[in-house]
Amino acid sequence: MKNIIFIAPPAAGKGTQSKLVSDTYNIPHISTGDLLREEIAKGTPLGLTIKDDMKKGNLVSDEVITTLLRNRITKPDCQNGYILDGYPRNIKQAKIYRDLLQELNYDDGVVIFFDIDKDLALKRTISRIVCPNCGASYNLLVEELKPLEGNICTRCHHELKTRTDDTEEVFIHRFDTYMNSTKELIDYYQNLGLLHKISVEEKSANEIFEEVKKVLND
Ligand code: AMP
Repeated sequence: MKNIIFIAPPAAGKGTQSKLVSDTYNIPHISTGDLLREEIAKGTPLGLTIKDDMKKGNLVSDEVITTLLRNRITKPDCQNGYILDGYPRNIKQAKIYRDLLQELNYDDGVVIFFDIDKDLALKRTISRIVCPNCGASYNLLVEELKPLEGNICTRCHHELKTRTDDTEEVFIHRFDTYMNSTKELIDYYQNLGLLHKISVEEKSANEIFEEVKKVLND
């Protein structure tokens, strides 16, 4: 069973690697943010309390997250594994998750940390362009993510624009906040012998994926 946790700072290419792993190993990509948004969309009483926390930018309670996660990872499509994205966010969640895995008789899993240099992450972020019409996202610095034609959306041919939240200042704040909050988590998994560090450097998505596969096939 391949149960995988991806830990990645902004702009490390987690979205691309999640898709490659999910397609290749035929396992679902589970984002806790998406699970929460689905619950809100259903309009359940639980959804209403989640909505309030998310609007304020607070973390949703461990109890709620664990219930949603347990329901999700015990579905039949998770039988061969899954990729977790956005969870665990801190050590407390990591410990709860470890207990949950033991209770379900699941493997300890694999944790992959995509290590990216802050300057490279910044360069990638400010090179990101999106389509205001269909929402497609491109990156002028990443070969696989360039639009086919200049500044034009490959999907709908609309003119592409820079994202307003992709400024240097905002990015540096997001990056530092992420690294501060995940440092403990990285140490925790390192001490358990479950952490695999993959350096992103100037590698292509395929080169990184080769390294991910090596970790997963071990
Ligand atoms: P995301 O889509 O990962 O950016 O998450 C969006 C929001 O969902 C966060 O700001 C939190 O309010 C909530 N959330 C997502 N994952 C978690 C988690 N593991 N624990 C608590 N709250 C979470």
